[in-house]
This record gives sequence, structure tokens and C-alpha cells, in this order.
Amino acid sequence: MPNLQTPLSQVSFIEKKYLPKLEQLGIKSVRDFLYFFPHRYDDFSKITKIAEIKEGETATVEGKITDIQSIRTWKRKMAITEALIQDKSGSARVLWFNQPYIIQNIKKDSSVRMSGKVSWDKKGLYLSSPAYENANRVPTNTGRIVPVYPETRGITSRWMRWKISQLLKKYLAEIGEVIPNAILKRQKLIGAQEAVRELHFPTNFEKVKESQKRMAFEEMFLIQLVSARARKDWTTSQAIALDFDDKLVKDFVASLPFKLTDAQRKSTYQILKDIEKPHPMNRLLEGDVGSGKTVVAAIAALETMMAGYQTAIMAPTEVLAIQHFETFKKVFKNFSQKVGILTASQCRTVWKKNTRKNFLGKIRRGEIKILIGTHALIQESVEFKNLALVVIDEQHRFGVEQRAKLQKAAANLKDNLKKTVPHLLSMTATPIPRTLALAFFGNLDLSILDELPKGRKKIITEIVTPANREKVYEFIRSEIKKGRQAFFIFPLIEESEKISGKSATAEHKKLSEEIFPNLKIGLLHGRMKPKDKEEIMNNFKEKDLDILVSTSVIEVGVDVPNSTIMVIEGSERFGLAQLHQFRGRVGRSDHQSYCFLFTDSVSATTNKRLKALLESEDGFKLAEKDLEIRGPGQFIGKRQSGIADTAMQHLSDVKLIQQARIEAQSLFEFDPKLNQFPILKNTLEKFDKEIHLE
Ligand code: ADP
Ligand code: MG
Repeated sequence: MPNLQTPLSQVSFIEKKYLPKLEQLGIKSVRDFLYFFPHRYDDFSKITKIAEIKEGETATVEGKITDIQSIRTWKRKMAITEALIQDKSGSARVLWFNQPYIIQNIKKDSSVRMSGKVSWDKKGLYLSSPAYENANRVPTNTGRIVPVYPETRGITSRWMRWKISQLLKKYLAEIGEVIPNAILKRQKLIGAQEAVRELHFPTNFEKVKESQKRMAFEEMFLIQLVSARARKDWTTSQAIALDFDDKLVKDFVASLPFKLTDAQRKSTYQILKDIEKPHPMNRLLEGDVGSGKTVVAAIAALETMMAGYQTAIMAPTEVLAIQHFETFKKVFKNFSQKVGILTASQCRTVWKKNTRKNFLGKIRRGEIKILIGTHALIQESVEFKNLALVVIDEQHRFGVEQRAKLQKAAANLKDNLKKTVPHLLSMTATPIPRTLALAFFGNLDLSILDELPKGRKKIITEIVTPANREKVYEFIRSEIKKGRQAFFIFPLIEESEKISGKSATAEHKKLSEEIFPNLKIGLLHGRMKPKDKEEIMNNFKEKDLDILVSTSVIEVGVDVPNSTIMVIEGSERFGLAQLHQFRGRVGRSDHQSYCFLFTDSVSATTNKRLKALLESEDGFKLAEKDLEIRGPGQFIGKRQSGIADTAMQHLSDVKLIQQARIEAQSLFEFDPKLNQFPILKNTLEKFDKEIHLE
């Protein structure tokens, strides 16, 4: 019985020496191989009469070989095989360079089909190193739309085509239909077997599209099912219900130095309403940079604290954890002894440093009510007394794996309320377009801060070419004289031979010695010791430094309102979303802010990206633009998320995502265990293990 799970090592017609190479491509079983799709196609479907081939075209011809011989050029020692091919209309020369074995493969008088580029030399037109095959064979390499596979050293597309065509013969019938029939019909999708066959050996390009769409739908459909199930699991578990204390919240909000924006109010309300329930919240707070997510989280933490429970707040970097700690210290003046920070290098409350052991004890006994930190928070040694709320800041900065672990760790926390799961609030400043958010965080509720605090001035953004550098430096000098500060961002930490980027370290030296010798310039990068980082950040906040030179470390969250200038070197190297994040570091005070995008590049897409930044300040709009320009890959790591390439291409297809979601939800409601759909059930089990959702 043919079986898709059969390892390729047991398939007689796959030569052993190819196994390791296939494995490098992630191909181990028959199924892997059948689902390894071409990345593009050559259209060799039209057969041209030999008399009608034209120089510069790629042509497919069919005819008889009337002559074939090897020639060795004495000048360049190149092996050339020269042949003559003839059909009813005429004949043409064929030349293969450095493929001496050709002469064994093509015999005089045989009928051959070949596809290749038509070139010209002093003897006239010829076909240059064409793909070829016996004309009596089913067209595989020529005479059709030909698949081109991502190649690895030692594996050619020609070989792949040959093997896949053999595999299809034997195993295609074994591919089961994952998508229930009714859905296939409703969504007008082609079947799995047809799609697989067409993707490898398409009848026409229409079919390629239909097949890709079908694959994309399948992937999306599975994701949505996993997510519907996760949502159900999550919402049926128990959590601590935290009373909505109206007065407490009102008093706190009144004590803030600013008025909450409507978006902040609305999101806060949604969160407080969620955590009031005895089932865990699972909410994503999406808000553009500077939209004020921290204070929203703080209100939720306050309510948790006043109800007597603990909150854990996790940030991706130490710099950010420290900054949150400082903020919380301030806004919770009266309770600041209950706020603690835990990172790899420090553990302390506001008042004093603690030994680690001592500090962990305070967490365990519940004396620390709000614990802020990095990954250190999810170490085994950290035990909470009664954790009721977990906040993950800049959640997209945690890998998919890490996030899953965080969530699981949170769910397994050893508290005295063993059966409860903490409420979970994830926050992100990468504004993911709503459709994508729905696609990938389908099991989360969404709160959106789509409004910046009032009074923020528009940040003046400019693209700066090398010719205008000096002018900008001069401008920066004058702004700093007025008391402002500036960020300089560089793409790399240290000179690397491979990537000729300007390193922050070297540039720091240059800036402080040559360009701004009279200014105080600090350096911050990811490889520095946490203590040094904190010191530099503090110096910058306290205005002891005029300029902070940094790598992308400061991308997330850093808040220094007096800093009004953001210079981004090599700006063409960063994605739109990231550039927008950098820019969001300024424009946080009443002073006019500026963002200078330094670039040496003149490439078209780069400019498209940089220009988009000039045109819009709206993170959500920019995200959509980015989706358009670069595809969805940058929002969700490709491999990470386990999304097949074919599916990725269709992810900007909003309708497809929505349809998949609707179908998945109604199917899940109709038959949550999927008992009536055994193939789907089976596939989903495997799929579930491979992908991780929030
Ligand atoms: P982000 O959403 O990027 O995490 P933060 O929470 O760091 O933003 O807030 C950015 C800055 O805006 C902080 O200095 C914060 O004190 C301030 N802020 C937050 N909400 C408001 C508001 N409603 N009005 C004015 N300033 C605010
Ligand atoms: Mg933030």
C-alpha cells in the first residue's frame, strides 16, 4: 500500500545519494516531497516552428536530430556539444556549453523536444544550452509550463521534475481531502489532489492560481480552527474575577498629569470588563507608538493590586523593563514599595536592593504586587503567591516559541489558586493590519489605540541624501543649543566584513570626535552590560547627554520626551514598521520634532518605503502599505509561523482570510471534535503541534 508518510529512503527510485540533499530542503517523506512546490514556472508550452524562431526569445521546438558531435575549443578548453535539429519548416543549430554528457543522452535521428534561448553568432541562429527531452515522452521539461524548484547544490529542477512525476503516479491518489466537501463547493475551491498535481505540472496559469488559492485557504482554515479551539479552551478555564472598582479607577485617572484619550478610555474599559469575569482575558492591545499603552496596563495592574492579587509585566528588553519600573514607581507613588523589578542582572523594589533569595521570597509571599521584568520572570525559581494578571509588552518581540512558553508558564504558575489561569494582556506597537491580526491572533480579543494623545505636533520627516548631511548636522547643533536632544540610530553594532554597514561604535567615535566635538554623546547597544545600559539611559533622560547613539535596541518603547530629533542612518535597511517605531521615539513633547532618514540608496522600492513614511504618520496605514510593498512576511516570521509560502502570498487577500475564518468557526460550532471529518481531525492534530498561536 502506498503511504504518504513513507520515508524517501524506502522509495526505490530515489537514489540514496540524494537523501541528505533533500533533507536539507526539509524533505524526508513522500508527502514532504509532493508538497515541495515550485517557486516559479517557465512557460515552454508553445511549440514554435524552427523556421520562425527569433533571436532573444525563449523558444520550444520539436524535431529530429540530424547531427550531433562534441567539439573542444582549443582556445578556452571548453567542451561544446553541437547538434542540428530539423522539423518540417527548417533546421537550427543547438549548442550546449560544458555539458559533455549530453552526447550520451541525445542520439542522432532521435526525436527531441527542446526549450531554450535563441542566440546568434557568426554562423547564424542557434539554441543555447536548451532543456531537452525525448519527444515521445509526456512533456516534463519542455513543451509545457515547466516548474522551477528552489535549487540546492546537487539537485536540479530537471531531477526534481522527474522524481516528482514518478511520485505523483504512485502516490497522488493517497492525498486525502482536508477541507470538507460542502466548504469546497461553497468556496469554489479545487480538490487537494488536483491542486498538488497542478502546482507541479500545471495545465495553464489559471490553474496555478486556483491551486495556490486552495492551498492558502487550507492553511488559513487550519489556523482558524486551531485558534477557535484555543479560544474555547482559554475561555472555559477559570480565572480570578477582579471587581470593577469604579471609584478607584476614577481617582487614579484624575491623579494623572494628563487626560486619557478616548481610545485609552475605551480600551481600559474593555480590559476591566474582561478581568471582571471568572474566565481569563486574552486580549491584544494594539496601539501605535506613543499612543499610551503603558498607562492602560497600569490601570489594570492597579485594580489587580487593590483586589489583593499580583500582576507580572514582561518586556522584551532590560531598558524597557527599567523604564516601566520608573513609570510605575511614579504613577503609584503611594504603593511604590509593592512594585518590583526582576531581570537577569537586578532584582529590587523602589526602596532598596535585595538579595535574590530575599526578593524571590517577597514575590512568593505576595508582598510584591506588581512585578516588572524581562524573561527572567518565567524562570522556574520565580513563584507567585496569587498571580492574576500577566501583561506582555511589545509581544511581537518575543519569538513565537517564547510567547507560547510565556503563556504556558503563566498558566502553570505555582500559586495557591492552582486551577486558575491569569488574565493575559498582550501589547504591541506594531500596528498589524486588522485583517492580519484577525488571521493570526484570531483567538484574541482586540483593543485598538488608534488615537494619539492630544497636542502632539506632526513630526517633520525628511529623506537626507549625502549632499545634505552637513546642513542637517548644523541644524541639529542649533536645536541642541536650544536645549533639545537627539537620537542617532545605526543598523549594526560592529564593523562587519560581510555587511558593509556603519557601526554604531565606530560612528559614535566619529560623531563625538569629528562632527559634534563640543557635544556630549552616549552610546547604547545590545551587547553592553545591563548596568551600563541603564546608566546611559539615565544620563540621557537627565539631559547629561545631548545625543544618544544606538542600534535598534531603542526601537521598543524608550520614552524621553525632551529628545526631539531622530536620525536614522542607512534607513533603507529598515522596514517601514521599524522606521515608524524609531520615529515614534520623538514627538513626545510640545516642542517640534524631526526625523531624518539618512540614505545613500537610490533604489525604487526603498524610496517607496521612505516616501510612505513622509506621507503618513498613521501606523496602521503604514502597516497596510508595508503589507502591500513587502508582503505579510515581516509581520509574522515566515518559517516561525509554519505558514507555507503559497499561503503567504495570499495573505494580503482579505476576503480569503475572512471566508476561512467564517467557515472554520461554523464548522467548529457544528462539530467541535471534528468526529465527522477524520482526515481534517488528523491533520489538525499534526498542524497544531507545528504552529503556535497566541
Ligand atoms: P506606548 O504606547 O508607545 O507604549 P507610552 O505608554 O510609553 O506609549 O506613552 C508615551 C508617552 O505618552 C508617555 O510619556 C506617557 O506618559 C504619555 N501619555 C500617555 N497617555 C497620555 C495622554 N492621554 N495624554 C498625554 N500624554 C500621555
Ligand atoms: Mg510601550
